[in-house]
Amino acid sequence: MRDGDELVVTPARPIPRGRAFTVHVAYTADPTQQRHRDDAIRDYGWVPTPDGTVVCAQPDGAKMIFPVDDHPSLRAPITFHVTTPANIGAVANGRLVSTTARPGGRVERTYDSEQPIAAQLVQLAIGRFRVVNSTGPRGLPVRDVVPDDLVDDTAEYRSLTPEHLAWLEQRLGPYPFRRYGVLVGDTELPVALETQSLSVVPKDDLLGDRVGAERNLVHELTHHWTGDSVAIRRWSDLWLSEGHARFYERLYSDSHGGVSLDDAMRDAYEQHDQWRHDDGAPAEPAADTLFKVMRYDGSALVLYALREKVGTAVFERIEKSWVSTYRGRSAGTRDFIDLASRVAKQDLKPFLTAWLHGPHTPPMPGHPDWRVDPVED
Ligand SMILES: [Zn+2]
Repeated sequence: MRDGDELVVTPARPIPRGRAFTVHVAYTADPTQQRHRDDAIRDYGWVPTPDGTVVCAQPDGAKMIFPVDDHPSLRAPITFHVTTPANIGAVANGRLVSTTARPGGRVERTYDSEQPIAAQLVQLAIGRFRVVNSTGPRGLPVRDVVPDDLVDDTAEYRSLTPEHLAWLEQRLGPYPFRRYGVLVGDTELPVALETQSLSVVPKDDLLGDRVGAERNLVHELTHHWTGDSVAIRRWSDLWLSEGHARFYERLYSDSHGGVSLDDAMRDAYEQHDQWRHDDGAPAEPAADTLFKVMRYDGSALVLYALREKVGTAVFERIEKSWVSTYRGRSAGTRDFIDLASRVAKQDLKPFLTAWLHGPHTPPMPGHPDWRVDPVED
């Protein structure tokens, strides 16, 4: 029985406790459907392209694609079977297992997610694509999926992925999935998304200036360590996913022609009380302020403050330990505080609690001259 967004399945016979069981759900999706949020997400669900669709399910749009429990801490291996007319392609997360001719000139493709995947990170794209294969560090398969008419124009920035992988591996350890690639979205949607092993990036991000393109590409790639591999326990932990992605995006940009990290963080510091007032503290979002700036630059600032407090060497150990300890698992704010305290050999709970939950922005270690702007209602 369907009750709003919930599907209630009542078994015909009782299921013994602990016994595995299979549920078949017949489901018809409408790929013209979208939902909307008034934050960085904008329109989500099925996102139309000129000849098909891409999927941006985050945060709770996966149920518009297939029946699923879309809590961000839950994940499962997914097999996709997609049948299309012969002149239309289809691609999903993970590995292409088979391509089979079907009656009526149609083609069925089967994709295997290879590793368990959270519903919000599912990708299923339909359209006329070209698959562009290359190789990343240690032979990692890199597979870009690009609309035919955008292959050449997006090639320059797409070709930077192996460099981005190498740069992030230096800081966060080995890339945690078996392949990576960029799905170029021929869409008006201005938002990229870290759909697992195949980030969807809108074409405009790849047709503008290099600094902006690299920020977006590094951001989505960083999520594969923090957000995809280390999943969040609950949506209130989103700062862990977006804060890390924004931190490394800005750290990369600092040494690749962009704004310096210090300048960006000083700017964020000045506005931090206002963001606290408008969006809630970094780990205190409300449903309608979840993807606001506090979860991005506001949360990168918490990681910057931590680095200033414990020093770069200890911070780098915390980061590597975080993504290796919780690789393939979900973890929350308290887990991060505990792990950081263990690695730094000091109790960071008072420090991080004030930054993450407190009503006012604490002083920035090492920058006694930094000031927070007064809050305006
Ligand atoms: Zn992000």
